[in-house]
Amino acid sequence: MSVAENIKLIKEDIKKYSKNPDKVKIIAATKYVDYKGVEEVLEAGIKNAGENRVQALREKREILKEKDINWNFIGHLQKNKIKYIIDYIFLIHSVDSLGLAKEINKKAEKIDRVVDILLEVNISGEKSKSGYNREDLENDMTELLKLKNINIKGLMTMAPLAEDNNIVRKVFRELRELEEELNENYFNGRLTELSMGMTNDYKIALEEGATMIRIGSKIFL
Ligand SMILES: *Cc1c(COP(=O)(O)O)cnc(C)c1O
Repeated sequence: MSVAENIKLIKEDIKKYSKNPDKVKIIAATKYVDYKGVEEVLEAGIKNAGENRVQALREKREILKEKDINWNFIGHLQKNKIKYIIDYIFLIHSVDSLGLAKEINKKAEKIDRVVDILLEVNISGEKSKSGYNREDLENDMTELLKLKNINIKGLMTMAPLAEDNNIVRKVFRELRELEEELNENYFNGRLTELSMGMTNDYKIALEEGATMIRIGSKIFL
C-alpha cells in the first residue's frame, strides 16, 4: 500500500480508538526513508516528521529546508549534538535528565528561543529503556521548572515489547496518570501532550489518551 493509503488507515483508527480524535497528531517516524519519504508524508497532509538521529535529521532538513515541516526529535539526544538542531527543532520528545534539560535551556537562551519539549519517562522500569524514572523526575521537578527557555508540554514513553496487551496498556495508563498528577502539583493543567504509541501499540495508546502517536513501519514498510 502507498504512504497515503497507510496514513488514511491510521487516521480512521484515530477516530475509532481515541476519545479526543481532534487532539491527536501523527508523528511520522522517518528513520526508514530518505527525504523523498518525508515529502510523501507531507503530500499526504502530515506536517510532523520525527527523527531519532541528529545526523539523519540534519541531512533531511538541509534538503527540505524550504518546506513547511515540523521536525520532531524522538531519539536519545546527546548534549554535544543539541547545537545542530536548536534553532529549528519543533519539539524534543525525549528529554530524560536534568542535565540534558539544562543544556537545551542554555543553548536556547543563547539564541533567544523557548524550545518545546516533552519529558521521557521510563514507566516500565526496564533497564534497556531510556527515560526518567519516576522518582528522579519528582526530585528534579523544581529545578526543571526554573528553566525559562524550555517549555514542558507533556510526557513521552516507549512501551515494553510485551506480548500481553494489558502490560502495554498499563504503561500508557500510568503515563497519563503521572501527567494528571504533575498537572495538579506543578503545571496547573499546562501539560497537554502524551507522546505514546508506535506501529504495534498505537491503538491501545489512543484508547489511553495519546495525543501524539509516533509511527514508522506502518506508514513506510
Ligand atoms: C522508530 C521509532 C518509532 C516508530 O516505530 P514503528 O514501530 O516503526 O512505528 C517511534 N518512536 C521512536 C522513538 C522510534 O525510534
